[in-house]
Amino acid sequence: MTDMSAPRRDWHDDTKVARLGRAHDGDGLTVNRPLHRASTIGFSSVAAIDAAKKKRFDKGTVFYGRFGTPDVFAFEDAITGLEGGYGTIAVPSGLAACVLPLVAFLRPGDHLLVTDAVYEPARTSMGEFIRRNGVDVEFYDPRIGAGIAALIRPETRMIYLETPGSLTFEVQDVPAICAAAKAAGVMTVADNTWATALNCRPIDLGVDIVVQSATKYIVGHSDAMLGLVTCHEAHYRALREAANWLGYRASPDDVYMAARGLRTLTARMRQHHETGIALARFLEGLPQVRRVIHPALPSHPDHALWKRDFAGASGLFAIILDTPSHATAAAFAEDLELFGLGFSWGGYESLVLLADPAHARTATNWTEDGILVRLYAGLEHVDDLKADLARAILKATGDTANRSVHVA
Ligand SMILES: *Cc1c(COP(=O)(O)O)cnc(C)c1O
Repeated sequence: MTDMSAPRRDWHDDTKVARLGRAHDGDGLTVNRPLHRASTIGFSSVAAIDAAKKKRFDKGTVFYGRFGTPDVFAFEDAITGLEGGYGTIAVPSGLAACVLPLVAFLRPGDHLLVTDAVYEPARTSMGEFIRRNGVDVEFYDPRIGAGIAALIRPETRMIYLETPGSLTFEVQDVPAICAAAKAAGVMTVADNTWATALNCRPIDLGVDIVVQSATKYIVGHSDAMLGLVTCHEAHYRALREAANWLGYRASPDDVYMAARGLRTLTARMRQHHETGIALARFLEGLPQVRRVIHPALPSHPDHALWKRDFAGASGLFAIILDTPSHATAAAFAEDLELFGLGFSWGGYESLVLLADPAHARTATNWTEDGILVRLYAGLEHVDDLKADLARAILKATGDTANRSVHVA
């Protein structure tokens, strides 16, 4: 019998996603772990109940359904094997993961620094719920880098990063921000949803706590919601306790879906990387597109940081359409056949969304003329996606005569 759950340092990510968090090898066993659904956990003695209760915030203790079941723990360990750190806590959604470290560590009077490009619902939670509890929430320029030191005060407790921002794609100088934070005794939290552990390891770059929406790439099929918080041992218990205060419990069924998605993550991410970059390059050549915002393109202002800190890209990027007309942009988005209109991303299907970053910023101005269209490259064939984009752009801009588009 081999213990499949222990990560080996010399394994590549492909091997890790195929092995981590699975049951032991043995005769007559299924490949995937059978699913435990549970509220009550049975014990043989009062002493056993008392012992489990004492250890209920420790990693892997099966005590009561809300504290986790064996499959949830195995999946959490698999994620830790990819992200690094000591442990992972699965929570009901990505937003729950964003909020958990804030609830666990911030007290009235504390100062929280947040990237201005933060995921907008997290911004709302911080600006309303966290601020209401007496925390001074200040937003900072995502491109601030080492300059963050000037914003750190004696009462600064936490710096929250997201790299790149999932609408405007500024890449943050994570090592520089973490160095400034460490020098001042400030903890750091980073949202790693865009990259996943396959393309960026914030813990290796100096971040204390990684949060992510497993709803996106890890689940990978747009049919379950899950959040993950990964941390060092020093922060683990406080995060588990806060998850309990909030009554968070990741559904074992959703964790099963995420564990299933994890098995194909490396293969899918390679394709999202490739198709996303191919579409971005193609769009960069169209006169109807003013700008393509994709960190993997040399034209991106943070391309050097992306090259330094990331192993690859994912399928999400944005374009600025060369039109001031919201109606033209909407006609383009609605006319696309292969890109669905909808929130989220990370599934197999391509998506499109119109967005106005200006209204969700306070520390920086969004000065871009033209309409921002966020695109998500799914797993359809790249030539079909290109043809769809070209056709819809030409139709929406009414520009069919002299600016034809060549689909390679
Ligand atoms: C989607 C998303 C979240 C929230 O995840 P949900 O699972 O939808 O709650 C958080 N951060 C980023 C960057 C996201 O894209």
